[in-house]
Amino acid sequence: MKRVTIALLASLLTGAALAAQTTGVTAIRAGRLLDPEAGVVRLNQVILIEGTRIRDVGPNLAIPAGAKVIDLSTMTVLPGLVDAHNHLALTYKPVPENNVYYYTYVQESTALRAIQAVSNGIQMLASGFTIVRDMGNAGNYADSALRQAIEQGWIPGPTIINSGIIIGGMGGQFFPTPEMAKDHDIVYPEYLDADTPDEIVKAIRQNILFGAKVIKICVDCKPYGYTADEIRLIIRESAKANMKVEGHVQTLDGARSAIEAGIWSIAHSTALNDEMHKLMAQKGIWRAGTETPRGLAGHPVSAQAYQRTLEGLKNAYDNKVPLTFSTDADYWVEGMTRGEVCLEFLKTWTDAGIPNADILRAMTINGYKVSGTDETRGPIKAGFFADLIAVAGNPLDDVAALKQVQFVMKDGEVFKRDGVMTPAAFFHGGPVNGWRIR
Ligand SMILES: [Zn+2]
Repeated sequence: MKRVTIALLASLLTGAALAAQTTGVTAIRAGRLLDPEAGVVRLNQVILIEGTRIRDVGPNLAIPAGAKVIDLSTMTVLPGLVDAHNHLALTYKPVPENNVYYYTYVQESTALRAIQAVSNGIQMLASGFTIVRDMGNAGNYADSALRQAIEQGWIPGPTIINSGIIIGGMGGQFFPTPEMAKDHDIVYPEYLDADTPDEIVKAIRQNILFGAKVIKICVDCKPYGYTADEIRLIIRESAKANMKVEGHVQTLDGARSAIEAGIWSIAHSTALNDEMHKLMAQKGIWRAGTETPRGLAGHPVSAQAYQRTLEGLKNAYDNKVPLTFSTDADYWVEGMTRGEVCLEFLKTWTDAGIPNADILRAMTINGYKVSGTDETRGPIKAGFFADLIAVAGNPLDDVAALKQVQFVMKDGEVFKRDGVMTPAAFFHGGPVNGWRIR
């Protein structure tokens, strides 16, 4: 009886089911579709999206009856942007801490910082960043909580590749007083002290257990930095969980050790000279240079320092070092969102004379590769997750067009349209994508 009823219902519902299937398709009309890999714009393309994925892309694709159509025919559509180095659960400020994040950490709980991370993630997504590598300084794993909340379906946000706690020799990047270090272990959880091989292995395992997707180390924050052999151990242990290692590097010796060991990516550019760039290019080591522009209110960069940054970036480019767009923008600039601050970093790249097509590659293709998402998320291709953005101008002509992102789609859902966030579809009263996502 039951079976007959179901069969009858099924036959009656066939028409309705078919309609539902086609109405589950979204078609985007892209006036210009920017392919950053090829460095070209293709005119009058159609992108078909089904569920969370791209089904097809091409000129004159047939739009299925009942499909929802989004008209971006006056815009340039391109894949989402990547910030390869940020700290969403950290926002240091002029007041009260005078931009010293040691004090931010002392006075703000992990819970408060996790909520800031949610807001910063939304601000990044609104500026077109669909992937962020979140490289530590997140209190007690606020970065893992952010990633989990986004992946489980509680909130909108970029895809997060997070590092958990930064692992380093005693003290990390802090200079605690002896009494605070010994009696209060004040460095933890902002840094995880790991001075011996046993401690290094344990620290990596702790991060993996608590949700890290990449391992971040202080190579040389203190004079007792890691040797190439110690970095090899870190790379080996991380590789067990298929994780790459990024090193914070600030000295030439540190750069040499990290490069010799074959680290995945190097954060910050101050220690990278022509010789290091040549070695990085040879070994294919990613450069997350975090090149702060001049002119950010409250974050002065001297003319000399900026000149060194520009020459370093140009030298890396000329040596064909794999470049990522990375900001380290973990502070508040009054009047700007976190995403807007990050896009100000375009200035450094244009001032260094990097061609727009290569700036765009660093922000997209290279960003997907350094994040390890390049086979599933990033490019606008059939089978990939539907993450894409649109701007009014053509960023190949003027990369500053990216500062006015008008449209953002993440995982097939519209997050921003006509320059206004419309995130309702991303909020749920439960973990709709599964509570097992950790
Ligand atoms: Zn950083």
